[in-house]
Amino acid sequence: MEIIRNYIDGRSVEPRSGLYLDNVRPRDGTVYSRLPDSDASDVAEAVAAAKRAFPEWKAKKRQERAAILQKLANLIEGRLAQFAEAESEDQGKPKTLAERMDIPRAIENFRFFAGAILHQEEAAHQSTDSVFNYTLREPVGVAGLISPWNLPLYLLTWKLAPALATGNTVVAKPSELTPMTAYLLTQLLTEAGLPPGVCNIVFGTGARAGDALVAHPDVPLISFTGGTETASVIGQRAAPFYKKTSFELGGKNPGLIFADADLDAAVAASLRSAFLNQGEICLCTSRLLIEASIFDVFATRFVAGAKALKLGDPRQPDSFMGALVSQGHRSKVAGFVARAREQGLQILCGGEEVVLPGDLSKGFYYPPTVILAPDASPEIMQKEVFGPVVTLTPFRTYDEAIRLANQTPYGLATSIWTQNLNTAHRAARDIQAGQIWINTWMNRDLRVPFGGMKASGIGREGGRHSLEFYTEEKNVCIQI
Ligand code: NAD
Repeated sequence: MEIIRNYIDGRSVEPRSGLYLDNVRPRDGTVYSRLPDSDASDVAEAVAAAKRAFPEWKAKKRQERAAILQKLANLIEGRLAQFAEAESEDQGKPKTLAERMDIPRAIENFRFFAGAILHQEEAAHQSTDSVFNYTLREPVGVAGLISPWNLPLYLLTWKLAPALATGNTVVAKPSELTPMTAYLLTQLLTEAGLPPGVCNIVFGTGARAGDALVAHPDVPLISFTGGTETASVIGQRAAPFYKKTSFELGGKNPGLIFADADLDAAVAASLRSAFLNQGEICLCTSRLLIEASIFDVFATRFVAGAKALKLGDPRQPDSFMGALVSQGHRSKVAGFVARAREQGLQILCGGEEVVLPGDLSKGFYYPPTVILAPDASPEIMQKEVFGPVVTLTPFRTYDEAIRLANQTPYGLATSIWTQNLNTAHRAARDIQAGQIWINTWMNRDLRVPFGGMKASGIGREGGRHSLEFYTEEKNVCIQI
């Protein structure tokens, strides 16, 4: 059984307490590795190492930092198959999806920010003939990075890459449910050329290791991706220290299907957007709002498509969906569906836990589930399920569609399907969400601002937004 270790000051180390947590493999429910149950003393050691390493890393030429990140990207690429298999085993997602999406994107994150810092510009402002200002950008210090379990390496590196590129040192705490690819990454950091202490990874729970990182006085910046309720706790813990914080949180994302949409494209993309990665992507569509005149035809085709999606062994190349991340998460998803059923909502397909044969019988499988919802009031239309569950709701007018779309506490992403340019642009303006896709979904350019409105987050990541978050500006004014 693999024993995961912390990575502190360039060395692989045991947690000081000697305590470990079980790491469960979602596809068959077995404990297949163990990870450190790190506490405040491990975090303090990692922060001290990062603090010591900061002046030298900050002082490096940006070309040197970029070259190290490029090398790290190349090293991951050379082990893409190993990383993809590990991500699938740890998270439950199909291996082919990790090969196509998660690991390539992690590589791209390092390459993108290695390039971005070489092209970063700083501002100068001339006030009068004899007065001018120039603005310096400096790394913040030790960055605390906390990431979730759904896209483990993809989202961890989305923080690591800009934090390191801009000259910060890092203490990262990956999700305790999916530590394996972060552990594999620690095995490449020294070879890539990262000096000891620049990038530290501490494994453990949110309540112990995560909280210790948030509350550590020498960590001036916290970048968090995870649940909305967790962010509220982290915000309160970080506030007394005036920490710089970024929150990328949950969603209850609508897909709007207008009657003039290209139906083939809308059905195919909506199936992907509802069920890709078992519906465990913050950007997944979980509420489909469909113009009443095409509701029946769309619903019939969508439900047929959902039933045809292959749920199976994540190792098999034809599995579109694998297992949910944990037994606890599957129970949470099943609970939402059970309550919707009790409230009288009609389950059009799915809605019962799936038991696969043989070795997989203890795995955490849940099928694509489609629920008919008359309006925005049921719990299933308001709360994030974060699983393969989507509701279908008809709308009669444009105003009704927008009202339904905005009638949740969240504002992360929306996908609009129409052939009418005016409808598309109007809806893009009227919907409260950080990401609007028109006739597409999860089409990502790493330069654009990424983040949520309302309970979906505070701040934006991506491109210059990340470069700005991980640096402090200092304006210098000169009188000649
Ligand atoms: P979570 O909030 O339970 O955990 C996220 C991370 O925070 C984990 O590493 C966890 O250990 C840590 N954590 C938990 N409590 C903590 C505390 N008190 N102090 C410090 N750290 C703590 O979320 P999750 O279940 O891992 O992820 C699912 C959630 O993440 C969903 O809501 C999903 O929408 C959201 N998410 C958002 C985005 C985005 O970019 N907006 C992307 C992916 C996931």
